[in-house]
This record gives sequence, C-alpha cells and structure tokens, in this order.
Amino acid sequence: MKDELLGLRPDDFSRRVRAFMERRGEPAWRVDQLRDCVFNGKARCFEEATTLSTPLRADLAQHFSLTPLEPDHVARSADGTVKHLWGLADGEQIESVLIPTSGRLTLCLSSQAGCALGCLFCATGHFGFRRQLRPAEIVAQYREASRFAQAEWGRPVSHVVYMGMGEPLANLSAVHTSLDVLHQGFGLGSRRITLSTVGLVPGIRELARRPEQFGLAVSLHSPDHELRARLMPVEKRYPLPALFEALREYARVRGRRITFEYTLIDGVNDHPELARQLADLVRGLSCFVNLIPLNPIPFVDWQPSPPHRVAAFAGTLRKHGVETAVRTPRGRDIAAACGQLRLSAG
Ligand code: SAH
Ligand code: SF4
Repeated sequence: MKDELLGLRPDDFSRRVRAFMERRGEPAWRVDQLRDCVFNGKARCFEEATTLSTPLRADLAQHFSLTPLEPDHVARSADGTVKHLWGLADGEQIESVLIPTSGRLTLCLSSQAGCALGCLFCATGHFGFRRQLRPAEIVAQYREASRFAQAEWGRPVSHVVYMGMGEPLANLSAVHTSLDVLHQGFGLGSRRITLSTVGLVPGIRELARRPEQFGLAVSLHSPDHELRARLMPVEKRYPLPALFEALREYARVRGRRITFEYTLIDGVNDHPELARQLADLVRGLSCFVNLIPLNPIPFVDWQPSPPHRVAAFAGTLRKHGVETAVRTPRGRDIAAACGQLRLSAG
C-alpha cells in the first residue's frame, strides 16, 4: 500500500517526502511546498496541487496517496448542525458532524466504522463493529469538514471531539497518529481536542503518558456498578473503581479537568439518589458533568428524562458541589445527535 500522506506523523512526512524529492533531484523546499498543499487544505488531491509541476504530481501519485473523502450524503439540521456521511474506499461508511455555535465550530469525528462495545442506548452500538479506521481516514474527516466549514460559514473548525462513531481508545495506535497530525500538522491546539471514551482503562493510562493536554471525556451514565453494567457491558471489564483510579492519575499528571458525560434516561438512571452517589464518586476529582437527555434511538423504547427530572438531577449534583451543565441536543432532526450516528440518510 502506498503511504497515505494524511496518515503520516509530521516527522515521518518530512523524512519520506524528503527522500522522494531527493531521488528526483528536486530542491529541498519542495517538501515544504507539498506540506503546505496537504495541510492548508487548498488541494484535495495531487491533481489540485497546481503549485507543483505536472510530472511531479504524477510521480507523487505513484508513490503516495492523498485521497479525498467523498460525501455519500450531507444532511443539514434546522439548528445549523451538518452531518456528513463519508464513503470509504472499501464501501464502508462513517459520519462526522459539524456543530456551529457563536464562539466555536466543533467537529465531531469518527474513530471506527461501527463500534464493538454495545452500549444499549447507542445506535452505533446496536449497529456493531465494522472495522478500524486508518489514521488518514480520521484526519481526512477533519480536512474535508474544514474545507466545507470555510466554504459554508467562512470560518475554520475551532474544536475537534472524538465523539462520533466508535471508541477512540479501542483504535489507539491510529488515534495517536491522528492526534499528532491534527496537532502538529494542522496546528490545532491540544486543548481544542477532546477524546471521549467509554472508559477503557489501558487507553486512558496510555493517553496520560502523552505530554499534550488533550481533553478527556468519559461516558459514565451511572455511578452504580449493577446499573452501569446493564447499560454498558464495558463496566464488567473495567469496573468503576479501576476506571476512577486511572482518571485520578490522568487528572493529576495532565492537570486538566475530566468531563463526565451522563445520558439521562427516563426512569432508568435519573433518580436523585443516583445524583448523590455520583457526587460521592467524583468527590476530590477535578471534573465537571455534562447531562445529556437521551436522544431517542429506534432499538430501545427508552425516553429522555423530562425537563423537571433533568433539572432535579442537575440541582442535586450542584448542591453537592459538582459543576454541572445540561447539554442541549443538537441535530436530532437529522439523526446527528450523540448516540444517533448510524447509517441513515438522516
Ligand atoms: N465511544 C465513545 C465516543 C462516542 S459516543 C464514548 O462512548 O464515549 C459520544 C457520546 O454520546 C458518549 O458520551 C455516549 O455515551 C453518548 N451517547 C450514546 N448514545 C446516546 C444517546 N442515545 N443519547 C444521548 N447520548 C448518547
Ligand atoms: Fe460505542 Fe460509545 Fe456507542 Fe458505547 S456509546 S456503543 S462506546 S460509540
């Protein structure tokens, strides 16, 4: 397989492209010229890299690939959210979501085609695992979505969250590389990048060893072992005490607050007693809790907690000193909201 330029760490990129240019007898600045074409997003593919000569472009295409992602479908929500369904070369499909707000333009991208972890409330979980994404396929979502955002709204993607399809810490090596490319290649600050995990302890520990301050969001959904295990099979493998040990370590070495995602399901995990338990669980940890009323999915007949139960849950957490926000669902009308990502035209 040819080297995929979007999937090369910046140092690998320089090394391999330099060797290629030297073999052709090209001047050293050609490396920077190509880097500029790839990372400033102006050229989607070699043919569009018109600052390079035609024979050089043809030769590059023999040795490297710079394949653009093609959208199979673009869905626009009434609230401004845009969902792209991308077709991959082997026929798999993944989704990314652009969420514009006044101060930010957030891109939610996928790290796997499907997901193997089977959380009961999540459409991707019901859909099952298809395959891992390669680093270039993760980065290409950013590159294409950024181009779209510039054309559509005239502003760049400001934040990236790994909260689309898949579990990023179950595709660690590709995700590590994609972080390097986004951060060092595209210059996205580490504090603008957040990974969301269901709580895979080895992955959290590995992430803690990186020097950058990437944000970490953890999908919690219950402070009670039995209930969490029922909602999220991963709890049987990495139960809460092991998860919290790893999180305390992450918060200590990285010095960043942890975000907890808590999807509120009516009558299932929204009892005020669970809010008290949750406050006990996170005591002493630098964190805040995002409450997300369930986005309905076709596979289960659960409903989102009604507003008064959401408010009561949030109130109990705050009373116990836990910083809490209630997230407004975005893009529900195009099945682009959290947990709704699956293969529908939306
Ligand atoms: N696999 C990772 C990242 C993708 S899911 C993870 O689970 O963290 C992104 C977020 O959406 C997670 O917090 C997940 O728990 C939440 N989510 C899944 N299904 C949902 C639904 N139906 N309604 C609301 N949030 C949901
Ligand atoms: Fe996978 Fe996350 Fe969905 Fe769970 S919530 S099934 S980990 S994508």
